[in-house]
Amino acid sequence: MSAPLDRTLVPPALQDAGMLEALATELGTPLFVYDEDDLRRRCREYVSTFGAGNVAYAGKAFLCVAMARLAAEEGLHLHVALHAGFPPERIVFHGNNKSTAELTAALDAGVGRVVADSFDELDRLERLATERSAQPSVLVRVTPGVEAHTHEFIETGTLDSKFGFTTHDGVALEAARRVVESPALRLGGVHCHIGSMIERLDAYARAVTIVIDLCAAIAESTGTRVDELNMGGGLAARYLATDPVMSLSEYESTLRTTVKECIANAGIGEAPRLMVEPGRSISAPAAVTLFRVGTVKTIPHGRTYVAVDGGMSDNPRPVLYGAGYEAYLPDRIDEPRPLACSIAGKHCEQGDVVVTDARLPDGVHVGDLLAMPVTGAYGYAMASNYNKVPRPAVVFVRDGQARVVVRRETADDLVRLDQA
Ligand SMILES: *Cc1c(COP(=O)(O)O)cnc(C)c1O
Repeated sequence: MSAPLDRTLVPPALQDAGMLEALATELGTPLFVYDEDDLRRRCREYVSTFGAGNVAYAGKAFLCVAMARLAAEEGLHLHVALHAGFPPERIVFHGNNKSTAELTAALDAGVGRVVADSFDELDRLERLATERSAQPSVLVRVTPGVEAHTHEFIETGTLDSKFGFTTHDGVALEAARRVVESPALRLGGVHCHIGSMIERLDAYARAVTIVIDLCAAIAESTGTRVDELNMGGGLAARYLATDPVMSLSEYESTLRTTVKECIANAGIGEAPRLMVEPGRSISAPAAVTLFRVGTVKTIPHGRTYVAVDGGMSDNPRPVLYGAGYEAYLPDRIDEPRPLACSIAGKHCEQGDVVVTDARLPDGVHVGDLLAMPVTGAYGYAMASNYNKVPRPAVVFVRDGQARVVVRRETADDLVRLDQA
């Protein structure tokens, strides 16, 4: 129970406590610190496992100009557009309710793939493409009715979902037929993202089986072969020492083998190209968040609350999903952690807890630097200005050098949209 932190949760370049303390002193806290080589290493592992051109980084997990450039340099595609000089043909454009303005911008920019989510969107897209004589590549997003065994808020492949076209009752087949029959659109493939934080690879296998059945039905009904199968993202990250280590090669071989088997069973010739869109599994493990301890409060006969200078404004995951994290004191990383406590944020909500069941070394003091590992995904990306708190800075560390890639917000930034 009082074991020290498992160091493998902290990427190599961020294990230097002196450097973290210097960064926190210079740049303030909370602070997101990424190990840039760790990010690149995971991008490369994905590209070498799935093949060049078959991996899109899911920018919604964590995106800034520096991250978009890094993804471009490592040869990834990008889902979610950004003006970072990212090649538009490598953008995969998603959303369950894309506006006319967003679709127009995507077509005008020459975005490589539009993932269609509804018949209303197909109507809009067809009209816009016809006006522009563009012929966008359209992936039909399908929901295969598969439980991903994850939190229901991040489960996206079930029958009752706001996303995509259900494979039941011929709905997804009808969507594919609409695309094939439209002179303005081109069927680029089929897309299926069953959810996030997926630890069970059999959920992917079941989804692939259903999606390949659909590909066979599309080929039979329209005479058009589905060239590309995008199986989304969702591979879990290891947040706690007790979480499983997910193997990229097992993940890939589960997908690939199931595709092959199903293609053989369906008797439809060549397998479609397999693409994935990882977010969390690339960026989550690459960062730690640094906080400063502000108060330590022990309730008589109750809990100890260690309050830090951030909270739900830099990481709403604990509040949204009850997500668990580890915490540690960087300068005492190898010490046992006998103190059971809750790490609280600074927001005006009793629920604003950063780590509900944390373990820390005895003798935590006001002013101590406290770190939370595996905060590189859906932390900064979901940050807000709740309680008029400025969003933290983001730092990339490489070869012992740190560079600020997103500066901290200032008090002026907090009123920049106000029209007094
Ligand atoms: C969120 C999302 C992803 C990435 O999910 P992760 O769990 O971060 O890997 C991929 N594709 C789509 C369509 C998404 O919405």
